[in-house]
Amino acid sequence: MGDRPVMLITGGSRGIGAAVAHAAAADHDIVVNFASRAATADALARELSYRGATVITVQADVADETQVTEMFAAVDEVFGRLDALVNNAGIAGGYGPLATVDAEMLARLWAVNITGPFLCAREAAARMRTDDGGRGGSIVNISSKAAVLGGATEWVHYAASKGAIDTMTTGLAKELAHVGVRVNAVRPGLIDSDFHLHAPPGRMERMAPTIPMQRAGTADEVAAAVLWLVSPAAGYTTGAFIDVAGGR
Ligand code: NAP
Repeated sequence: MGDRPVMLITGGSRGIGAAVAHAAAADHDIVVNFASRAATADALARELSYRGATVITVQADVADETQVTEMFAAVDEVFGRLDALVNNAGIAGGYGPLATVDAEMLARLWAVNITGPFLCAREAAARMRTDDGGRGGSIVNISSKAAVLGGATEWVHYAASKGAIDTMTTGLAKELAHVGVRVNAVRPGLIDSDFHLHAPPGRMERMAPTIPMQRAGTADEVAAAVLWLVSPAAGYTTGAFIDVAGGR
């Protein structure tokens, strides 16, 4: 078991997840989970390891229970400890109003955005809980300000999946508080990342003037909130939500 805390970031290879990995690498070893783009994950891992972090990359679909349990088994084997889970992997599902929604799309959306975080939280908590040999830990769920705003005309389905994450955060925070596991969430607003490739071109530019701060946020601005929630400075904070949404 090494001295540095270990953080697992689902969907850690790009966007917000990669920004969290960059911010955490100063004092954590990192598990970068990704879905399919191995070269992107490997390039990030090389960059982080130049800065002193021990980094492994693990391909796993968070919606697949076997792949999730194998990923956590790999963490056990390499690091023998887990201190922080960032439940970040997420998809938009389709883009469009209610009439465009179908059961196949919804099933995949719920699987990645809800089942995935539940499975990862289950595996993480089993390793962290102090009543079963763990040393405690922290789970940060990446929700969305859409969970509160509703996503009308674009992705109510996506917003609803993040509403489930908010409820999960509240419930698990209470369930796990007495065994040393803190559970919090960050709700990003419009953040500059590949995520918006799922929407018609120009969404970021169209949306920016509607935001009180009149700009999109950066992945680094989201990562700063995640790192605070993971840190000892947030030791009495659980079941909390930090909106990083420019005032929306
Ligand atoms: P992104 O740039 O599209 O990156 C998505 C990441 O998730 C990639 O690393 C991708 O891996 C991985 N991934 C996708 N499906 C996966 C699966 N089934 N299993 C494991 N990994 C998977 O997204 P982002 O903007 O950084 O978003 C990250 C999180 O923030 C999501 O939960 C999203 O809902 C939330 N969020 C984003 C915004 C925004 O405006 N960007 C706003 C609010 C909330 P590959 O590289 O292999 O594809």
